[in-house]
Amino acid sequence: MKNRSELIAQLEATPDWDVVIIGGGASGLGIAVDAAAKGFKTVLFEQYDFAKGTSSKSTKLVHGGVRYLAQGNIRLVMEALRERGLLEENAKHLFKKQEFIIPNYTWWSGPYYAIGLKLYDLLSKKFSLGTSKWIGKKKVQKLLPTIKNDHLESGVSYFDGQFDDARLALNLAQTSLELGGLPLNYMKVTAFEKSATEQITAVEITDTETNKQYKVKGKVFINATGIFTDSILKMYLPNHKKTVVPSQGIHLMLDPSFLQSDKAIMIPKTSDGRVLFIIPWHNKVIAGTTDTLIKKPKIEPTPLAEEIDFILDTINTYLTKKAERKDVLSVFSGLRPLAKPGKEETNTKEVSRSHKIISDKNLISIIGGKWTTYRKMAEDVMEVVTNDFLQTDDTTSTKHIAIHGNISEPLLCEDRLSFYGSDFQKVLDLESSNPEYATKIHSEYPYTIGQVVWAVRNEMALSIEDFLSRRIRLLLLDAKAAKEAAPLVAEVMAKELDKDAAWITNQIYEFNALTEKYILH
Ligand SMILES: Cc1cc2nc3c(=O)[nH]c(=O)nc-3n(C[C@H](O)[C@H](O)[C@H](O)COP(=O)(O)OP(=O)(O)OC[C@H]3O[C@@H](n4cnc5c(N)ncnc54)[C@H](O)[C@@H]3O)c2cc1C
Repeated sequence: MKNRSELIAQLEATPDWDVVIIGGGASGLGIAVDAAAKGFKTVLFEQYDFAKGTSSKSTKLVHGGVRYLAQGNIRLVMEALRERGLLEENAKHLFKKQEFIIPNYTWWSGPYYAIGLKLYDLLSKKFSLGTSKWIGKKKVQKLLPTIKNDHLESGVSYFDGQFDDARLALNLAQTSLELGGLPLNYMKVTAFEKSATEQITAVEITDTETNKQYKVKGKVFINATGIFTDSILKMYLPNHKKTVVPSQGIHLMLDPSFLQSDKAIMIPKTSDGRVLFIIPWHNKVIAGTTDTLIKKPKIEPTPLAEEIDFILDTINTYLTKKAERKDVLSVFSGLRPLAKPGKEETNTKEVSRSHKIISDKNLISIIGGKWTTYRKMAEDVMEVVTNDFLQTDDTTSTKHIAIHGNISEPLLCEDRLSFYGSDFQKVLDLESSNPEYATKIHSEYPYTIGQVVWAVRNEMALSIEDFLSRRIRLLLLDAKAAKEAAPLVAEVMAKELDKDAAWITNQIYEFNALTEKYILH
C-alpha cells in the first residue's frame, strides 16, 4: 500500500481529473469505487478520516428494513435485500448472517409478524439468508435467556445481515485505490472555482495534516457530504435552498451478559412507535437507536440525556438484567442525512430513507439513502455522470467487484482478526516479525501493537482516533479502555509516522476530549 506522501505525489502529478468526489463516507466511497472501475480518473477528498461522520455510527445492519416493509415501501425493501445479497458476496469478511427474534407479548402479534416476515423472505428471493419462523414461548426463553417472561406469548425468528461499517468504508477506499482511483483522507474542500457559465472548473482543498493548499481541476464534481450537503451547495450558490435534515440516532454499548445470546432482539414498536435493536457485535451488545430532529450538522454529535434514558428504559422493559448508566461501556451518536421532507411528512421517522440525486450544472449531490444501498446509490450517481457529462463505452458494474479483503468463506479466527479478511495472514506475519508487536495495547482486550503498525502502514491511519475508533472499534466498544490504551497507541504511531513528543501530547489531549462524548458519567 502506498504511503501518504506517495498518494499526495500522485495528486500533485495529475493536473486534471474526470470525477472529483467530496466526502469519504458510504456514499462518496461507493462512488469512488464505481467511477474508478469504469476507468475514470477519480479523486476523493475526505476532510477528516474515512467514515468519521455518520458512516461509522450506524446500527451496523445490512438490511431490507422490516420497518419499511410495515410502511409498505416494497420497492425500497427489495432494492436493499438485493444489495444485502451482493455485499455478502463481495465483502464476506465483513458480512455476518444474524438471527433476530421478535418477542411477542400479545396473542395476535405472533401471526402478524410471522406473516410479515414471510413476505420479507419472499422478497429476498435468491438472496435469502434463512427462513423466518414462528417460535413458541419456551424456545424464545431458551434462545434469549435474559428476556422477560411476564406475558410473553411467543416469538418470530428471522435473518438479516450485519457488518462493520468503518471497516467497510476503509476497504472501499482501498478498493478504489486498487482500481486506479485516489481516495485521500484529511483533505478539506474549501472553495469552488467556476467558469462564466457557472460550471465548476476546480476545487480548492487544504491538506489538514500539513495545511498545504491545492487547486484540483475536474470535469464532474460529486457532493457526497451527507449532513454537510447544504454547506457544499451554499459554497456553490450562496442562496441554495436547504435539502437535508439531520436526524440523530444514538446507540449504547453494553456487556454481553445483558443478552447472553448470539441471537439479536428486534423490538418492533417502542413507546415512540419506532423499532429498537439489541444486537451482539464484536463480543459486546449494541442497543439502539433513536430518531431526534437536530438543527445543526455536527461531525461528533452529542447524545441527549433523554435519548440515553429512552434506550435504557426500553431495554429494561424487555430484559431481566437491569441496565443503568454505569453499565454503558460507550455511547455513540450519528446523524442521518435525510432528504428534507415534503409537506405530507411531518416527523423524521416518516421521512423516506430512499436516496435523492440533485444535479446543478456539473455538481451532483447525493442525499439520503442508507449504508445497505451504498452501491446502488453510487451506480445511480454514475448513471447521471455518464448520461450527462462523461461519455464512456465502459459499462463495468460494481455488482460483482470484490471489495478489498474479500474471501471465499468467513474466517474462523479471533474476532480481532476476522475483519482483515484476505489481509489476515499478513497481519499475523507482521505481528510475528517483531517480539514487541505481539504486546497488547490494553490488558483487557486482545488488540496488539502489531495491529497499530499495520493500520499506519496499510490502512491510512494518521491519528490515534483513526486507529482506536475505526481501524479497530475500541472507542465504540469500551470508551474508557480506548482512553487507557491511547498513550501506548500514540507512542507506537509516532514512531511509525516520524512524529515528535508534542504530537503525542496533542494526540492524547484531543482523544481524551473526544472520549468525553462516549463515556457516560
Ligand atoms: C443512528 C444511525 C443508524 C443507522 N443504521 C443503519 C443501518 O443499520 N444500516 C444501514 O444501511 N444504514 C444505517 N444508517 C444510515 C447510514 O449510516 C447513512 O446513510 C450513511 O452512513 C451516510 O453516508 P454518507 O456518506 O452519505 O454520509 P457521511 O458518512 O456523513 O459522510 C460524509 C462525509 O463528508 C465529509 N465532508 C463534509 N464536508 C466536507 C468537505 N468540505 N471536504 C471534504 N469532506 C467533507 C464528512 O467529513 C463526512 O465524512 C444509520 C444512520 C444513523 C445515523
